Amino acid sequence: MEKNSLNGITFYSGEQIPVELHKVRVVQKLFLNPIDERLAAIYRAGFNTFQLNTLDVFLDMLTDSGTNAMSDNQISSMLKADDAYAGSQSFYRMEAAINEVFGKKYVLPAHQGRAAENIISQAFIKKGDVIPMNYHFTTTKAHMELNGGTIFEIYTEEAIKIKSNVPFKGNIDIKKLEDLIAKYGAEKIPFIRMEASTNLIGGQPFSIANMREVRKIADKHGIIMVLDASLIGENAYFVKKREAEFKNSEIKDILLTMCDLADVVYFSSRKVSSTRGGGICTNREDLFMKMRDLVILYEGFLTYGGMSVREIEAMAVGLMETTDETVISQSPSFIEFAVNELDKKGIPVVTPSGALGCHVDAIGFLPHVPQKEYPAGALAAALFIISGCRGMERGTISSVRLENGEDLLADVELLRLAFPRRVFTLSQTKFLIDRLIWLYQNRELVGGLKFVEEPAVLRFFLGRLAPTSNWPEKLVAKFKQDFGESL
Ligand SMILES: *Cc1c(COP(=O)(O)O)cnc(C)c1O
Repeated sequence: MEKNSLNGITFYSGEQIPVELHKVRVVQKLFLNPIDERLAAIYRAGFNTFQLNTLDVFLDMLTDSGTNAMSDNQISSMLKADDAYAGSQSFYRMEAAINEVFGKKYVLPAHQGRAAENIISQAFIKKGDVIPMNYHFTTTKAHMELNGGTIFEIYTEEAIKIKSNVPFKGNIDIKKLEDLIAKYGAEKIPFIRMEASTNLIGGQPFSIANMREVRKIADKHGIIMVLDASLIGENAYFVKKREAEFKNSEIKDILLTMCDLADVVYFSSRKVSSTRGGGICTNREDLFMKMRDLVILYEGFLTYGGMSVREIEAMAVGLMETTDETVISQSPSFIEFAVNELDKKGIPVVTPSGALGCHVDAIGFLPHVPQKEYPAGALAAALFIISGCRGMERGTISSVRLENGEDLLADVELLRLAFPRRVFTLSQTKFLIDRLIWLYQNRELVGGLKFVEEPAVLRFFLGRLAPTSNWPEKLVAKFKQDFGESL
């Protein structure tokens, strides 16, 4: 396993600290409100962190989506955007960036990642099809099922273990892939999907060795491969750090190697290029032609695809910056710092550390809260109350209610604390760690949650919950006693 990442800088003292290789030039004021105000805010939000107003939030670690910091070059590129419905120079600059970074010739713009998933699903999936993948993403699964497909997650056993030292928990289990093809037949499989830095299992990468094996099987059966490249930069960084063959490779070559193994590459620019927007690319004209007209129908003309030209300019620059190791390593190295510090204190976190965020295991943290009282949701609310840090529940609240009225209990109950690229400082990270340590020491004070308003679809976004007892007030009382003040 790798050592801590230092972005190439070693401290004389031997201390392991991820150093920021950027400086801050535009800032946004934050508010750390008194704990009584935070308590009132979480009641107003129905104990759902999606419902919080950012004026009540100190560190917003809900997601990396659309929240990464833009570079000076990205912001300045927006000024030269070419306003044109058709044939805009901005589009051609983005197309050139995609040609160079992903190595694909044909480019289709889409307004965000899920729009690309809509196009791909409509173009290739028929009713009754099955789609193998390392793990689903919420919007991916929804679009594939809408088009009559069924997804199969063929991850390795290690993937959903909390504690692990397997470097590539995002790999596809090759035996399961072969069994699936034998069972359903290649003609029922429109494509195999691989997701870079697999989001919902803790931002865990796949290896290029695994991707090559999947490709071999795909070729044997004449099945195409689709790569979800939303978190591809971080996956490339982990390949460099964890896969011996690539330890001396340039990030740009690792990116090209991964993309070359896929027939179709799509991405959310909200993640990969620190902007908004998304897109699809391929070197196969036949596949491009199957998707092209759908882009016009759902997204807009082929040279803007639902995006503003300013966004497209910033995307082009952001994609090029994905090949810069100091850019893509910042979030993973801060996550690694947080994961190591929490792990040292015995706080249960997903290991090895991955991309996107630090994932706290709520079942291990709150073993006394039954899964049907939503431990990950309760932990998210408790952390917000005692710190103002907003994370996201990724557990049973994010799951669904079955026809028999019971919850479909999630595989894992995680509190995800996202580290958007180059947004938070190390002292803010240390603040988060310190509050988590206090919360862990006082974990028996945290109780469960129950739904009071439950939407039928994607309930985690708009659902409202309430505590099962007056545990939030008890937690606040203990906090005031220990900290002697209300911040
Ligand atoms: C965010 C994300 C998407 C969806 O992208 P949006 O731009 O939010 O629509 C798809 N796949 C993965 C892996 C993602 O992280």
